[in-house]
Amino acid sequence: MARTDDSDHLPETEDLPTELYARTAEHARTYLASLATADVAPIVSLDALRRRLGGPLPDDGEAPEDIIDGLVEATRGGLMGSAGGRFFGWVIGGSLPAALAADWLTSTWDQNAALYACSPAEAVIEEVCGQWLKSLLGLPSEASFGLVSGCQMAHVTALASARYRLLARRDWDVEAEGLFAAPPVRVLTSEHRHASLDRAVRLLGVGSRSVQTIGSRKDGRIDVSALRRSLGQSDAATVVVLQAGDINTGLFDPFAEAIAVAREHDAWVHVDGAFGLWAAASPKYRHLLDGVELADSWATDAHKWLNVPYDSGLVFVADHAAHRCAMSTRASYLVHAEDGGPRDQIDWNPEWSRRGRGVALYAALRSLGRTGLAELIERTSGHAATLVDRIGALPGVEILSRAHLNQGLVRFLAADGNHDYRTDRVVDAIQAEGTSWFGGTTWNGMRAMRVSVCNWQTTDNDVDRTVAAVSHLLDASAPKVG
Ligand SMILES: *Cc1c(COP(=O)(O)O)cnc(C)c1O
Repeated sequence: MARTDDSDHLPETEDLPTELYARTAEHARTYLASLATADVAPIVSLDALRRRLGGPLPDDGEAPEDIIDGLVEATRGGLMGSAGGRFFGWVIGGSLPAALAADWLTSTWDQNAALYACSPAEAVIEEVCGQWLKSLLGLPSEASFGLVSGCQMAHVTALASARYRLLARRDWDVEAEGLFAAPPVRVLTSEHRHASLDRAVRLLGVGSRSVQTIGSRKDGRIDVSALRRSLGQSDAATVVVLQAGDINTGLFDPFAEAIAVAREHDAWVHVDGAFGLWAAASPKYRHLLDGVELADSWATDAHKWLNVPYDSGLVFVADHAAHRCAMSTRASYLVHAEDGGPRDQIDWNPEWSRRGRGVALYAALRSLGRTGLAELIERTSGHAATLVDRIGALPGVEILSRAHLNQGLVRFLAADGNHDYRTDRVVDAIQAEGTSWFGGTTWNGMRAMRVSVCNWQTTDNDVDRTVAAVSHLLDASAPKVG
């Protein structure tokens, strides 16, 4: 049958399970509507979930409608309400409507976004996203990029590029020779780094002992004079990892200064900007990233603050030759794009077959536009500041870190001085109460409650309801929990 672009002549749809798809869309609508009122925390036990979902795999296949209805039933109360506006745990965004809808299309199209030859449209969508993002995030226009599964794999991709380049400068072809007899590689970073960095180092065969912690200043930013000393102590191949947005405090390392020092020692500078890199999109916060464009590689996420569904990380590498040498692959059966022609994603990503994850990203970027993104960053940061200040003003609460950007910390004080214990109990109680959800953390040796606002849906009303619920709970729990 000839292919046609003429949608007036659609084929008969009798064979399509339209009923199933309509029913599933209705389940999705019901779920999204429930977020406004349902408890944020999951309320079903592990045992109950195993009972509901487990049992032997049936010998015979089941009807799709029954499977979908059954999934909705069995997961009820077992999902975290992180898609809604009163979830303030970890660094987790929701899904913009355009991005969610585009994600449905992505599964419908079911393209293999590995090569231009597999799906020309997917390849061009990613190419366009990469260009838009470099411009939005203030990164060099000639940098290469990859759409990966998350910031974890963005680190792996960036550090593989670093490993390639630093060792090539020492006449070592790591792609061919591996690391067993290679010159040593070390990673200098701060104690506040995200643990995904250490795992990236391990996956790359560099080993976690190669990670050396540089002292931090009191406020948690990397101490540049300590970095200078460490760099001076050895001329081993060195990667310096800086943070754009600490997960506890939202603070940024001093990029311009730290990168200048790293440059003097030919170190590769990688930036973990899982959420903080998005500050570049806001005229109000852009200054936090001054100098970040001088780094060698950058990792961030679209599935957090940009509010794209999961499976959306981003890596950018200034040295595109290093990036390509570390990632590209040639196999006899593949059909590669010509140089200067279309872009094959497989040359810039660690995966082979992969989801067309550019589609939801593209939709999110178009749906916000430059001003919408700036507004999202500023609005959510404003909510974080309000939550920290208003919860922090309640009796028996101490602010440990006012919200820099969209992350802040408070803790709950106990009459007997056991603030760590009381803080953990209050966080448990807030989660159990259900109005909103915050997580605990340890910061500077103290237990604290993190306030993290990433979801496009959070409103002033969500903030009011959250503060009221925490206030009520503190009143009610003061004698018992204190
Ligand atoms: C979430 C996060 C990561 C890991 O990102 P994933 O997308 O979960 O792989 C790394 N660094 C920071 C600062 C983060 O917040």
